Amino acid sequence: MTSLILFAILATAQALAQDGPQPRAIDPGAAGKPPSDAIVLFDGSNAGEWAHKDGRPAEWKLENGALVCNSGKGDLYSKRKIGSAQIHVEFSAPYMPNAKSQARGNSGVYIQNNYEIQVLDSYQNPTYANGSCAALYGQYAPLVNACRKPGEWQSYDIIFHTPACDSEGKVTTPGTITLLHNGVVVQDHVTIKGKTPGAGKTSVCEPGPLMLQDHFHPDVKETFMKFRNIWYRPL
Ligand code: MG
Repeated sequence: MTSLILFAILATAQALAQDGPQPRAIDPGAAGKPPSDAIVLFDGSNAGEWAHKDGRPAEWKLENGALVCNSGKGDLYSKRKIGSAQIHVEFSAPYMPNAKSQARGNSGVYIQNNYEIQVLDSYQNPTYANGSCAALYGQYAPLVNACRKPGEWQSYDIIFHTPACDSEGKVTTPGTITLLHNGVVVQDHVTIKGKTPGAGKTSVCEPGPLMLQDHFHPDVKETFMKFRNIWYRPL
């Protein structure tokens, strides 16, 4: 009887085992470092992977390993075009106690230049939910508010799948986004409803640049948003 059961277990295990290729080994990197197969867009040393919309070199300041946007310099675009990917970005929002709601530390990470993951100082700063930090702007509020205090470094880990399109460029299957904010799942495989209003003309059917937003708000003169450690892995 025992041997019969053992035989059944072995037979099941054999049926489940697949003889596919071994998963490719990569070096996951030390804590805080990109994995060995990542394409690094900013490692703190230079902004050579970035340009403004008109192609001029990045005018954001390089400061202690961070790219600093002070208002008026313009959005920054990665020179590389990115499709489905795992994307890592770190940011630090400025301390702006006199600014409220959307005026306090506003920026954004635009995936494919089409979809804004909101960057905002949402630490004890209420605003409309689907416009708060880590929202897919205008579409989905984050599941929780995982914000750190202004001035502290925070991370976004994004898993982006582009929509599928037909030969005429019509979306047949919408894209999806998963987002971890400071390691916490805040967008869980949400279905993208469309481009963020005001986004550029990049086709949703083709890879596009990652864009870091220079956000203008009439209530504040300047916003100093910092970014660092930006990389991605095509999926
Ligand atoms: Mg924004």
